[in-house]
Amino acid sequence: MMLRIESLCLKAIKEDAASNYPDEGCGLLLGSDGPEKEIGRMVKEFFPTPNRWEDEEKRRRFSITASDFLAAEIKAQERGLEIIGIYHSHPDHKPIPSDYDLEKAWPFYSYLIVEVVKGQIGSMASWRLLGDRTKFTFEDLLVEPKP
Ligand SMILES: [Zn+2]
Repeated sequence: MMLRIESLCLKAIKEDAASNYPDEGCGLLLGSDGPEKEIGRMVKEFFPTPNRWEDEEKRRRFSITASDFLAAEIKAQERGLEIIGIYHSHPDHKPIPSDYDLEKAWPFYSYLIVEVVKGQIGSMASWRLLGDRTKFTFEDLLVEPKP
């Protein structure tokens, strides 16, 4: 599996991750999901959302509310896109989904995780939940220049 992402989107995501440090940043990935042999799944727009988690647990949790989701859905529809993934950052942790991430994950979406080390962007990885919801599987991340 592969997730393509336009370089400008990735730049905006990295900025969001760094600016939310030491809290987790989060947001939604808008794009299109075509057959893997052709264009595949591609992120064309980043929709940042505030981390709605209420307390200091924000440093290792994130929350996107239904109304933020709806706003992203409306914007996606206006652009002829759909919500294809969810990004969040891991302050001072590897970009590997936590047990909590697994518990909260839905099938279909790509889960892009960005590591932030002492305020600087570290490594990144994208994941998809297996159909039986028991674990995530890694997907390749391919950065595309803006057409
Ligand atoms: Zn996480």
